[in-house]
Amino acid sequence: MSQLTETKVLEEIHLAATQGFCAGVASAIEVVDRALHKYGNPLYVRHEIVHNTAVIEDFEEKGVVFIEALSDVPEDNVVVFSAHGTAPEEYVKAKQRGLHIIDATCPLVSKIHRQAVRFSERGVQTILIGHKGHQELIGTSGYVDQGLLHIIETVEDVDLLELDETKPIGFLTQTTLSVSDTDSIISKLKLHYPDIIGPPKADICYATTNRQNSVSDIAAFCDVIIVCGSPTSSNSNRLREMSESLGVDSYIIDSVDELDFSWLDDKRRCGITSGASVPKKIVDDVVVALKSRFQNIKIFQDENIEKGIHFPLPNL
Ligand code: SF4
Repeated sequence: MSQLTETKVLEEIHLAATQGFCAGVASAIEVVDRALHKYGNPLYVRHEIVHNTAVIEDFEEKGVVFIEALSDVPEDNVVVFSAHGTAPEEYVKAKQRGLHIIDATCPLVSKIHRQAVRFSERGVQTILIGHKGHQELIGTSGYVDQGLLHIIETVEDVDLLELDETKPIGFLTQTTLSVSDTDSIISKLKLHYPDIIGPPKADICYATTNRQNSVSDIAAFCDVIIVCGSPTSSNSNRLREMSESLGVDSYIIDSVDELDFSWLDDKRRCGITSGASVPKKIVDDVVVALKSRFQNIKIFQDENIEKGIHFPLPNL
């Protein structure tokens, strides 16, 4: 007797409880808005203010010029430093060019910079856990005495470290890493170097942690997860990896234009989440597209635990 298999149709959308702008991103975006208002355009911003294509394009339309090298900013002009943090030598270069710096570094990143400086002042060999080439890691590396700096990305990298165990050893982490991968790296570090010093928990920020917890909650019952986020966004990429690691097909999209409905074939429940630098409109667009494609689809979302978190704005 032949068995008929029922083809599933999308019936439910589950929005991750915590998603959208974190306090650091919201504050950095407001800084650029206010600086535009105060100084007019062109307004120069060193590196993408936050890693999101829609945010960057919107600012470019308003006359913001994103640059990497400070030599591209005319002398005696204003320059905004991005939320990811900037190495100290860039502050020196900016001052040499007579630039007025507006610093949009997230306070949670600045806190790590201060710890990096304290470590180096005490001669601590500093293991910096993060993604090589990411803007935050480049910035934080600049606060560590280069003779004491050791960057690692994976558990395997711990075996490659060459440290003087008669001297102090400490660790710091990037704010947007996978919580579970980083826990594994730190556990191995503690096994190898029992006296290692570091923060009680990794420096992974509240926003990254909450978004990973929320995606893990919906991955428990969703058949597919769409992550809204730009390819350059570290915390968005971690969300996709996390749901994949939990066995759920996951796709990252920069905008609704990249949504491929074939991903939803034979799926009943679709989760949607977004990185800490993603405007709410991108998620709303995806929901609208799914609602128009699948009639009577139901939408669910648990209460967001992130409420009322604001960071002070820097002086303009
Ligand atoms: S993701 Fe975390 S560290 Fe980065 S800007 Fe947001 S709050 Fe700050």
